[in-house]
Amino acid sequence: MTFARQRLRHEFAVRHVTVRRVSRIVPSIVRVTFGGKDLDGFASAGPADHVKVFFPDHQSGMLVVPTVTPEGIRPPESGTPIARDYTPLAFRPAADGDPAELDIDFVLHGDEGPASAWAVRATPGDVVAIGGPRGSQLAPEGIGRLILVADETALPAASKWLDAVGPSVPVTALFDVADDSVSAYLPAAVAGRVDARWLSRASGLSDPSGASPVEVALRALRPIGEDTFVFLAGEAGTLIPLRHYLRRELGLPQEQVVVSGYWKRGVVALDHHAPVDPSDPD
Ligand SMILES: Cc1cc2nc3c(=O)[nH]c(=O)nc-3n(C[C@H](O)[C@H](O)[C@H](O)COP(=O)(O)OP(=O)(O)OC[C@H]3O[C@@H](n4cnc5c(N)ncnc54)[C@H](O)[C@@H]3O)c2cc1C
Repeated sequence: MTFARQRLRHEFAVRHVTVRRVSRIVPSIVRVTFGGKDLDGFASAGPADHVKVFFPDHQSGMLVVPTVTPEGIRPPESGTPIARDYTPLAFRPAADGDPAELDIDFVLHGDEGPASAWAVRATPGDVVAIGGPRGSQLAPEGIGRLILVADETALPAASKWLDAVGPSVPVTALFDVADDSVSAYLPAAVAGRVDARWLSRASGLSDPSGASPVEVALRALRPIGEDTFVFLAGEAGTLIPLRHYLRRELGLPQEQVVVSGYWKRGVVALDHHAPVDPSDPD
């Protein structure tokens, strides 16, 4: 089976948006709802789309962004942008007098990163800028089964995958989370149609070989049929043995297994285009 996926291109824009609402979805994740005229024309059609969120400098309050010109993207004349990648979870276009809104879920992991430090203090009226998405890659047609492996940062992408494939496709989701409190993330209606396993890192469990709970759970899903599509995203180091198992031990082709490092322990602003396993790039 081939997993041909349609790609859509979007005109690149940097949009200034204002925080309208903030809600704690689970203790470690905050949902920020942005609004503003600039959201007109925003589009995101792919489950793993991402935007660049530009944050103000926490000391000066200055928000530095590149400029989009007919000739291309021009870097700012002064200052360095502070930007990180995020999943545009839900976009609601303006309708019946209600303005457009965009939801983004931020994992709170402390103050060592500007994005997390901003999100924990986000308040209605705060302004950030959002660049992209530049394009969307749609879910493949005709998937027989979907396997999702996600940590907290990829829960928004996992939600979008569930929407993208619809209720007719059986989904098994392995969620690699800090503790049991995160399992309240999925709304009940969504949680009811997915075989979700919440694997708590706090349990400290690993099997005698040293494999993590998520690796043990993934290995237990065997056999993985040729119509099964697998999406894995989260901490890059955690993904290395999972990718190795799927691609090298099972020999699944690249188009059947998408592996995306969303962050890496000890690395600031990970470039997610870099190979997850530098010793075994695709
Ligand atoms: C395509 C894509 C989509 C993404 N979507 C989302 C999303 O929807 N929601 C979301 O929360 N994140 C998402 N991420 C991950 C997010 O971009 C990173 O976690 C980012 O590093 C956070 O920036 P920061 O400024 O908080 O930390 P950074 O300044 O980048 O890093 C500072 C330190 O914090 C550590 N760190 C970074 N993230 C985490 C974390 N989650 N837990 C623990 N330590 C961490 C780093 O290893 C580093 O040591 C996505 C990433 C990609 C590539």
